[in-house]
Amino acid sequence: MENIQSLAQMTSWLVTGRILFLLIHILGVVCFAYIVAKRLVPLFRGNRDLRFNRPLVRLGRVLKFWLGQWKQPRYKTAGTLHIFIFAGFILLALRAFSVLIVCVSENFVMPGLSGRAGSTYNTITDYAATIVFLCMVIAVIRRLVFKPARYAVPARYGKGHTADAIFLLSLIAILMVADGLFAAARAAAQSQPGQPLEVLAAFSLPWMLQSALASTSLPTLGRLYFGAYLLHEVTFYFLLCYRPFGIQFHVETSLFNIYFAKLDREILKPVRWGVSDEHLDQVKSFGVKTFEDFTWKHMLDFYSCADCGRCSDNCPANAVGRPLSPRFITVKARDYSFQHYPVLGRANNGTALVGSKDSGSIYSEDEIWSCTTCGACEQECPLLIEYIDKIVDLRRGMVDDGNVPQSLQKPLKALESRGNPYGKMEKKKADWANAKEFQQICRVKTLDSRNGADTLYFVDSITSYDDRMQAIGRATAKILDHVGEKFGILGAAERDSGHEVRRFGEETLFMALRDHNADAIKASGVRRIVTADPHAYNALKHDYKDVPPVEHISQVIAREVRAGKIKFNPIENEKNVYTYHDPCYLGRHNHIYDDPRDVLDAIPGLKRVEMSRSRDRSFCCGGGGLMLFYEPKEDERMGVKRVKMAAEAGANVIVTACPFCMVNIEDAIKVAGLEGNMTAIDLAELVDQQIVRECPT
Ligand code: SF4
Ligand code: SF4
Repeated sequence: MENIQSLAQMTSWLVTGRILFLLIHILGVVCFAYIVAKRLVPLFRGNRDLRFNRPLVRLGRVLKFWLGQWKQPRYKTAGTLHIFIFAGFILLALRAFSVLIVCVSENFVMPGLSGRAGSTYNTITDYAATIVFLCMVIAVIRRLVFKPARYAVPARYGKGHTADAIFLLSLIAILMVADGLFAAARAAAQSQPGQPLEVLAAFSLPWMLQSALASTSLPTLGRLYFGAYLLHEVTFYFLLCYRPFGIQFHVETSLFNIYFAKLDREILKPVRWGVSDEHLDQVKSFGVKTFEDFTWKHMLDFYSCADCGRCSDNCPANAVGRPLSPRFITVKARDYSFQHYPVLGRANNGTALVGSKDSGSIYSEDEIWSCTTCGACEQECPLLIEYIDKIVDLRRGMVDDGNVPQSLQKPLKALESRGNPYGKMEKKKADWANAKEFQQICRVKTLDSRNGADTLYFVDSITSYDDRMQAIGRATAKILDHVGEKFGILGAAERDSGHEVRRFGEETLFMALRDHNADAIKASGVRRIVTADPHAYNALKHDYKDVPPVEHISQVIAREVRAGKIKFNPIENEKNVYTYHDPCYLGRHNHIYDDPRDVLDAIPGLKRVEMSRSRDRSFCCGGGGLMLFYEPKEDERMGVKRVKMAAEAGANVIVTACPFCMVNIEDAIKVAGLEGNMTAIDLAELVDQQIVRECPT
């Protein structure tokens, strides 16, 4: 530049700009590399995790969830702010890199950014810096004035993170101001009388600063130019090195976290990656007991959390006051990792993760048992952070140590000895179907080597043994019969699907149940399986191997309605307003949202409303399987909250498609004092009621 000295030649503290800035660069890069290397140490000590398959699918997800910020708009204000900040950073990346080089090569221009392309890029980045700056101001105001509840840190989880967040937001704002001031001082110097005018984007932050500097003398502009650059460099490297100490580390790790994110969320993590079921007896210890038992990817999750609180905001356990907040499962593990793998000093041996606080543990037993594995947290997380696998792994560790809640010990024993959590006799399993009156309406055969069928109706424990839920079994059988399905049940040969057993960490018991059922299914010779229980559906579909394809009854009904094989009588009670509650293991875990709704909408005269939380934001009713036996500490039942949501939506009939939802919701209707005003019905029962039959049954 002709009118102010180049950065490289300016002298400050007896050193030239070139040397000063080069020293800052080298120091910044070395510090950052050292800190990141230290942060990677636990990942190398963590357990295996196979995340290197299907690279194209993974790249596609990076484009969608990282570059496309796909999940951000689920929270409109914060999401929009984040998209602007992220887009601003992406646009500014090249500019920041060019600015770093300017101190050694004043006239450096990024390849491809000379001439018109360069001016266009500069204009865009002037606006990008302005938008990022404004977003920082708005974000600080949100944090200080509006204080969104999901950012709060309850006392039991430690100190609030607001001060740290504001500090970081301010640093980014300072970086944008320094960047703008640097460009403005140079432009103002060049626009002195007799010099060609450097055009900055009108009304951008650099443009406003340039206008403010219009009458500033050249020497002052020179000092501002140098000072702004120094501020930019120091802030840039400080931010770079400070980020790995807190939530902002996600800026570096998020791309990798999304690339390596789990591709098939519905498939539960094996006990050990690379160890087959046959060799599990050689595994010395199951599950996660110490920090190093987590897989490297799960540790990367801990580093990648942005502390946005969306997971906990959607967690039903958190909503009803159970001692679980998924955000803090991550935050506590990250803090633990930072403490035990310090940047300065040696890594020290970790203690058991689950136990009392006094012994240095970070999770309580109740915290880990409180999860219903509903998946709401994972559905919401913009960074695809995983929770269910971690929680199941922690439970596996507790079960391995014989640490099972009292209330679960009896049902687990019964599952081991009788194949169902109620301890009922196997021979009574088909009583619901063999009752004389029902046999006169619908004959359900029990499959064996002489009695075959195309389709197996897998009933599972609750529908087989619970008096109320047996009605769902009978309705399902009648529907299958109505559509001409050649079907049968396994009867005494069927054991519990083991779905919840697995999610409660009892892998060995699950394997025994699975193998028994798989053998019985294969022996029956069926070609497909139908079930009305989403937990059984999920287990058969994802936890079992080599069994015929499985469908949920809602899928069968929807298909037959579309094919015209099922027709409905109109709803008689015009006052009824229906709402559909998505069971977690049908909706979020298996993406079956439309079939049940399509069936309801095909019933003439049925008025249907949606609850505020529906489809992939459905609110768990309280959990199924063994969760029915667990007695958590909570302020309110999840089911009660759900029933209130239905009432708020204006519904007086809750339709669901899961026997466990039915238990929780019917119970909640009583607890909420809504008996007489609200009822619950299973989709299969409603269809059975409304179906047009040639000979009425
Ligand atoms: S799976 Fe459901 S209950 Fe468990 S932590 Fe996530 S949101 Fe909470
Ligand atoms: S886990 Fe995901 S949703 Fe939860 S606080 Fe962290 S980034 Fe946000």
